[in-house]
Amino acid sequence: MIRSDAPVLLEISDLHARVEDQPILKGVNLTVRAGEIHAVMGRNGSGKSTLSKVLAGHPAYTVTSGSVRYRGEDLLALAPEQRSRLGLFLGFQYPVEIPGVSNLEFLRVSSNSRRVELGKEELDTFAFEDLVHGRLGVVQMDAAFLERGVNEGFSGGEKKRNEILQMALLEPAVAILDETDSGLDIDALRIVAAGVNQLATADNATLLVTHYQRLLDLITPDYVHVMAAGRILRTGPKELALELERDGYDWVDQELARLEREPAEVV
Ligand code: ADP
Ligand code: MG
Repeated sequence: MIRSDAPVLLEISDLHARVEDQPILKGVNLTVRAGEIHAVMGRNGSGKSTLSKVLAGHPAYTVTSGSVRYRGEDLLALAPEQRSRLGLFLGFQYPVEIPGVSNLEFLRVSSNSRRVELGKEELDTFAFEDLVHGRLGVVQMDAAFLERGVNEGFSGGEKKRNEILQMALLEPAVAILDETDSGLDIDALRIVAAGVNQLATADNATLLVTHYQRLLDLITPDYVHVMAAGRILRTGPKELALELERDGYDWVDQELARLEREPAEVV
């Protein structure tokens, strides 16, 4: 829900970043307030995952200019684990498997670091089991998944549900969900979307990175942004996603060509 007086949680200003020697982000601007759901759409290769990873602090990406304020702090000055403890969450497009590390223990340790930050007491295994069992329902996950290695042998849909379970336990202020809908069948998509809707409050914000409208039939964004060539080319209301579904991204090339001709107009 948009409330213009809601606190700004994330403010990205003219962000440029590269991977190795390749510039990928070329001036991203985005302001996210508490209570808002933003969809970041765009073709493959437009820089959506790069933006997500730069915000999370992935070491392979170098910010070359611009700034990111997160709840008033300089986000880029913080280590990835500090960002996470302070409530920035990234749900991965491709969640990694960590064989040998128990999912339950992984969730407990990460949840405890976040709890310390929130001023809550740390939980031992028994107390945490009670908490996690209460949250499994958010993604309709079976408790058996807690006993396995992190994502070890999970199907695509199970991995994505495990990401949302993590989110439910970490109670992020800003959650970035990178293609959480990809690889999901319709039932899993409904479950994940219901989980995300349940976790969205007036105090937090969600960035849904996706290139399909279908997730946005289930989670209503307040804003839709279209990324192309490393920047946000257009921002609109939820109807913009329907327009993209109908008309595709051909206009993007024309817009980019126009910007090439008139670089001074790039904001
Ligand atoms: P999207 O998520 O929108 O599909 P990405 O952010 O994954 O786009 O990729 C944007 C561009 O950056 C692509 O051209 C991709 O090949 C390039 N890129 C991203 N990560 C790397 C990397 N680690 N090494 C080389 N190129 C990369
Ligand atoms: Mg991506």
